[in-house]
Amino acid sequence: MYDYDLLVVGSANADLVIGVERRPAAGETVLGSDLAVHPGGKGANQAVAAARLGARTALLARIGDDAYGRLLLDSQRAAGVDTVGVLVGGAPTGIALITVDPSGDNSIVVSPGANGRLTPEDVRAAAGLFHASRVVSAQLEIPLETVVEVVRSLAPGSRFVLNPSPPRPLPAEVLAACDPLIVNEHEAKVILGAVDGGSAVGDRPEDWARVLLAKGPKSVVVTLGSQGALVASAEGVERVAAVRVDAVDTTGAGDSFTAALAWKLGAGSSLAEAAAYAARVGAVAVTRRGAQESFPTAAEVEGR
Ligand code: ADP
Repeated sequence: MYDYDLLVVGSANADLVIGVERRPAAGETVLGSDLAVHPGGKGANQAVAAARLGARTALLARIGDDAYGRLLLDSQRAAGVDTVGVLVGGAPTGIALITVDPSGDNSIVVSPGANGRLTPEDVRAAAGLFHASRVVSAQLEIPLETVVEVVRSLAPGSRFVLNPSPPRPLPAEVLAACDPLIVNEHEAKVILGAVDGGSAVGDRPEDWARVLLAKGPKSVVVTLGSQGALVASAEGVERVAAVRVDAVDTTGAGDSFTAALAWKLGAGSSLAEAAAYAARVGAVAVTRRGAQESFPTAAEVEGR
């Protein structure tokens, strides 16, 4: 029996958002809106998304001993995430400084802070969490060597799900552990470009999925925004339809999709079934503003 349906290993950031009429040039000061502070980071987002669906979820992450760290702990606990694996100290909490202009375009500066100090040693010290978890998910907002250690720490019989964001070339050992590797179009292109010199795979997501699969993952999911997703495994490539909604804010769509997929896979769903459920979760999330604030409960996904 596993204590956790999902262990998320990843980042936790405070998103500091200011609306601006225009961005300052070098040496210039502009006035902006009141500051809005939101809990974020892909690891923290995935954990909240899974817990809100009802998954028994733990987060392994590192935050600073500061007010933003406490904000992140509070949001995790409010969603029902077990924070026993959240380590405190070593650097300030990770921060994303975000300006939003009137057209809705973001400019973002990320200070990884404590996320950059989540070490392979921290992963080894959390062996008990790995043995207690049916599925483990990770992203790339923490050091790559830490993700490598995550793969080496997986308990026999547990399943590993990776969203390689922000994308970068991945060691064969990490690729081989993914079941699935979950990429959006941008991530697929970067990972394939780094491997193949870019041009060889063309514009068809079906081809990206096939070529990615040939790199070693046991399965691949390509998310396609309002076009849904593709799932690929040894059994072939299958399309998963998107749920039609009026999207107002796609922030966090991929994080909620990944969390829902990981949870459903652990519960015994096939890859296509899990992706279809995840598409419903992502579709609800894009009808609401924000990231963690937008993630639905299981009851809210019913009927979608
Ligand atoms: P990311 O947020 O990583 O860029 P996507 O934009 O591909 O990822 O979104 C992840 C999933 O969320 C999609 O595969 C889809 O199922 C769902 N989704 C995203 N945008 C929409 C939308 N506009 N309408 C319906 N579903 C959406």
